[in-house]
Amino acid sequence: MKNQAEQLEQELTEKLTLTFGKQLKEATTKDMFQVVCLVMKESIHANWQKTKQLYRETNSKQVYYFSMEFLLGRLVESNLLNMGQLETYQQALRSLGFDPERVFMEEHDAGLGNGGLGRLAACFLDSLASLQLPGNGMGIRYKYGLFQQKVVDGYQVELPDYWLKDEYMWETKRSDRTVEVRFGGTVETSFEHHKLQFHHHDYERVLAIPYDVPIVGFQNETVNTLRLWSAESTANHFHFHSSRGHDYYHYLDYKRSVEKISEFLYPDDSTYAGKVLRLKQQYFLVSAGLQSILQQCKQKALPMEQLSRHVVLQINDTHPSLVVPELMRLLLDEEGLGWDEAWAITTETVAYTNHTTLNEALETWPKDMIEMLFPRIYLIIEEINERFCQSLWHDYPELRDKIAELAIISYDQIHMAHLAIVGSFSVNGVAELHTRILKERVMKSFYTIFPERFTNKTNGITHRRWLMNCNPGLARLLTEAIGDSWIKDADRLADIIPFSSDRGFQEAIAEVKHDNKKKLAAYIYQHARIPVNEQSIFDVQIKRLHGYKRQLLNVFHIIHLYQRCLENPALEFTPRTFIFGAKAAPGYTFAKHVIKLINAVADKVNHHPLVKEKLKVIFLENYQVSLAERIIPAADISEQISTASKEASGTGNMKLMMNGALTIGTEDGANVEIQQLVGEENIFTFGLTSDEVFALQQHGSYRARDYYNQDRRLQQILDLFVNEHFTSDDVEFKDIFYSLLYNNDEFFVLKDFDSYVHAQRCVDATYRNQEKWLEKSIINIGRSGTFASDRTIREYAADIWNIHPPASR
Ligand SMILES: *Cc1c(COP(=O)(O)O)cnc(C)c1O
Repeated sequence: MKNQAEQLEQELTEKLTLTFGKQLKEATTKDMFQVVCLVMKESIHANWQKTKQLYRETNSKQVYYFSMEFLLGRLVESNLLNMGQLETYQQALRSLGFDPERVFMEEHDAGLGNGGLGRLAACFLDSLASLQLPGNGMGIRYKYGLFQQKVVDGYQVELPDYWLKDEYMWETKRSDRTVEVRFGGTVETSFEHHKLQFHHHDYERVLAIPYDVPIVGFQNETVNTLRLWSAESTANHFHFHSSRGHDYYHYLDYKRSVEKISEFLYPDDSTYAGKVLRLKQQYFLVSAGLQSILQQCKQKALPMEQLSRHVVLQINDTHPSLVVPELMRLLLDEEGLGWDEAWAITTETVAYTNHTTLNEALETWPKDMIEMLFPRIYLIIEEINERFCQSLWHDYPELRDKIAELAIISYDQIHMAHLAIVGSFSVNGVAELHTRILKERVMKSFYTIFPERFTNKTNGITHRRWLMNCNPGLARLLTEAIGDSWIKDADRLADIIPFSSDRGFQEAIAEVKHDNKKKLAAYIYQHARIPVNEQSIFDVQIKRLHGYKRQLLNVFHIIHLYQRCLENPALEFTPRTFIFGAKAAPGYTFAKHVIKLINAVADKVNHHPLVKEKLKVIFLENYQVSLAERIIPAADISEQISTASKEASGTGNMKLMMNGALTIGTEDGANVEIQQLVGEENIFTFGLTSDEVFALQQHGSYRARDYYNQDRRLQQILDLFVNEHFTSDDVEFKDIFYSLLYNNDEFFVLKDFDSYVHAQRCVDATYRNQEKWLEKSIINIGRSGTFASDRTIREYAADIWNIHPPASR
């Protein structure tokens, strides 16, 4: 009898010959990666069929998670883990003479997202499948994912991310499920069968082709579906444009304009770039997704009146909020329902997650643009708005002076958040503080009107990828100490808390961390040619580059330490390695200047003879999921230093906590909940609170200049920016100087500086007592189970979706 790994070796070898006609010794790691996927797919696809059949037979209610972004990263390792086959494959690959890690690295990250919002969608899919819940993703198959970042002379350079260059191993094209999406044209009305009928003419036809990606649940044989839509032209488009005939060049224009719809992911994390194309993408996703869902309901002969018993549509931020008018259109025009009936169905089926209170990120679109691109949808939005404003007038006399502020259409703009709130049965924020800010401030009037709609669902991360996969050393140690029940139930991580003061356990934890730091140090040396001290504190800030996330505050502290070292070469503190990973939106000039600043500071610090033994600054290029998986297990300190009230939740904070890093952070987003869980002695909190930030904004009483004038440290730091200390032509840094002192430091960097430096001193002092530090680290790991996305998804399933695992037969 052969064991499993030996059997697998044979299967892999046979598949290699069958697919590539190659012998083992001729195979490249890329060949081997593809062969691994092909063999895996045989069992994944069998379970996929079974899962679909089970959902059909049990008539299960399904959730569809509509999101413009799914930041999946690599799937090979997480799929193997979930299949319970990771070790078998690793063993077989080694026996065949391959390094499993190198084989898995052949997979190109699926980077169909910008940051937290897209990664959340991916973690949710993993949890849905792992909890055996009928849940699917709906997204766009962008031909190019988020740009690849290079750093050249300290500047960010963006390269296209052509992730489909090699075949994407996990997707299956489903041409049989193609639907048509219509853009532009005109709408005419007529009166037939005692009803107003709408006729859409002269529209542009776009084919939406679905590519399905299997989402493998954790050791439960469940395989759910992520459906990604691709836009294609149709050859017979011009049969409908008889006046134009078959104009070949016109056809090429049409083809180009259609293909653009699913070409690029917008590299804009939280600000809206005024692009018609982006709006077309949103409608493309929504219309294709809804049509395919309704088609499936019809195949099952479900009456449309009962749609909300079978389907729930969760929209990830406002980007897909055209589901509201599009579902109305399908129910009214295609199904022939009346307005009231269609409205009842829609508002029982759609649920909305809010992700931001940043003003510039609250989506609005010019009403002309919507009218031009989707004339029928525009009419429906107008009608929804009309009825909503009427009901405000009649039912809420106390809000009459607020109607313009609450309307869906006002000043020729369409407010997508208003559309989403009015058109849904559930509105949720993503952390307790964020939800409170929604209820009490940003959406206060809507909360008065629809109090029952608002709930909180604090974000989460899948502990399978963010602990088991990325930190196997820690996972093994945890299981040795407390058994493996935490794997199925992350709350059981709390079982390690009694070991937090156990010297033996502390040392084992320290050893795992040190191993991880060694590996990261090797990666840094390989990629940046900078030697880093493995005994130093690894201080990590990895996230999109944005003013509100305040990478600048971190840099201020580094420059401050640098200057103190120069003033007093004998200064005693634990050496630190500051590690950054961050992409800036290509059009976000300030963010790009901060990247240049980090690299300029790195250049000085890393080479200065008086400093380089104590401080290192590393900017790792191209921050993405697979890089996060390398950095996080090695982190000692997690920088979560956003201006209070600005970070809705954060999920990077959760990943780092789960891997034993201690947080230095403001009372913002989920940091607040981390503090509640671990206690204030196990986190380094500093800075303004959100209420203080609101008060300063309201009274306009903050003057950045005063802080500059009164604090010698700030003068020293800021003067470097204009004194050309870093480079000969540092206009970038002057720009930062002006934004702080002349634009009055929108994000309160100068205001929070002193408090931050103080907290950093506490970090240093605490780290010197390794026993205390490790105790805190263990408590953080133990309390992180709350942030498993399984918990989040259980809450969504119970409180919003009302979905359950199918009763298997
Ligand atoms: C988790 C994650 C994020 C979100 O990080 P925040 O610190 O919450 O902003 C962004 N990008 C990637 C690649 C991630 O894995």
